[in-house]
Amino acid sequence: MIFKHIISVSAAIILLVTAGTQALLPVTSAAYRNVANSAASFSAWQLTGNPLTSVTPDAPDSPSLISLSSTDKSVTVNWTKVKGATGYRVYRYDFKTGSFISRTSIKNNNISSWTDEKVSSGTAYKYKVKSYVKIDGVNYWSGYSNTLCTAVKPQKIAITKANRTYDAVRLFWEPVTCNGYQIYMYSPDTKKWQYAATVKDPSADQYRVSGLKRGTKYKFRIRAYKCDADRKNYFGSFGNSFSVTTKPEIIKKNGITYVEGILIANKTYALPSNYNPDMDSSALNAFYKMQRAARNDGINLWICSGFRSYSYQQYLYSSYAARDGKAAADRYSARAGHSEHQTGLAMDVNNASSSFEGTKEAKWLAANCSDYGFIIRYPKNKESVTGYKYEPWHIRYLGVKTATAVEKSGKCLEEYLGITSKYK
Ligand SMILES: [Zn+2]
Repeated sequence: MIFKHIISVSAAIILLVTAGTQALLPVTSAAYRNVANSAASFSAWQLTGNPLTSVTPDAPDSPSLISLSSTDKSVTVNWTKVKGATGYRVYRYDFKTGSFISRTSIKNNNISSWTDEKVSSGTAYKYKVKSYVKIDGVNYWSGYSNTLCTAVKPQKIAITKANRTYDAVRLFWEPVTCNGYQIYMYSPDTKKWQYAATVKDPSADQYRVSGLKRGTKYKFRIRAYKCDADRKNYFGSFGNSFSVTTKPEIIKKNGITYVEGILIANKTYALPSNYNPDMDSSALNAFYKMQRAARNDGINLWICSGFRSYSYQQYLYSSYAARDGKAAADRYSARAGHSEHQTGLAMDVNNASSSFEGTKEAKWLAANCSDYGFIIRYPKNKESVTGYKYEPWHIRYLGVKTATAVEKSGKCLEEYLGITSKYK
């Protein structure tokens, strides 16, 4: 790039201007040659001796950056076309070195947008553009455009697991490149997704949501965010929606376990050997009421086994175990202390054998018992949860409100309360 133009100034100063270099000229008014509009009008240089102003001869106008649009894989830079320009160069700020670095050169004035595909998720970027004119093999550059910033949204976040207590849930995820995470919760009260918390630590991989209701199902989802240099946030996607049920309240009183106020005897929770309440009068009255209603429908129901003491259950179980072996007996008979019959709230109806299944009495019982406060305690296909084979004859008294809720949920009692039934 040698001297291209000789600019004559009224005072007969001859300046050799090297293209691309900023020559210092003593001027006050715009004596600026626009090579792009090569009509090249020169105003007279006014030599005043006053402030030295920087001038770039032969340079085209600077383009203006209009917008940056980012996806999760790219950033598209849009600028204004400069009349007469030969092309453009796009620069990206490098946060490590603190300087703008050329990313591409575009040799076409009709192109005014470029997509940067070498970007990383969860990362902030800044861009600016220059235009140039090529004359006789030499490029003459404009100044920089304005600078715009953006960020590429972070990767989606999937909740991988959750630990739960009675009133809190700890959520876990894999951290990504970002500024932090936003946690949303689906409230069972408002039935809406609502913002729960922000974790302002990109390396965080867990968060504890507290103040929850016990024994309640919640849903959570998480997204990462990245902010650009203008503090505008770019959000990644929610990777999943994760359901967790907080633990129920389990209270032990005189050796008897109550889950959410419901007396429980199953393979996990045993009754003391001296607990001998006999048949519960409310359960019995509810049965008689149901029996009368069944009779009106031409159905005959009776109790074939009600309350059983600890010692009687011990006798029953050991005879079954002796006959069929322990593993087989455990599928249909409870060990002493673990039988629901010892609660005085359970009963076997008509015929405690598989021949009861499918009878009109069994069908009536299944269809109507919740109206009287009972549930079929060991439903079909729930053996892995209740610990017992399907027993269409065994009903458990819970009161109408709870029995109806359990029936409506389609769950067995263990699932409904979020508890287990397994021998230790
Ligand atoms: Zn039974």
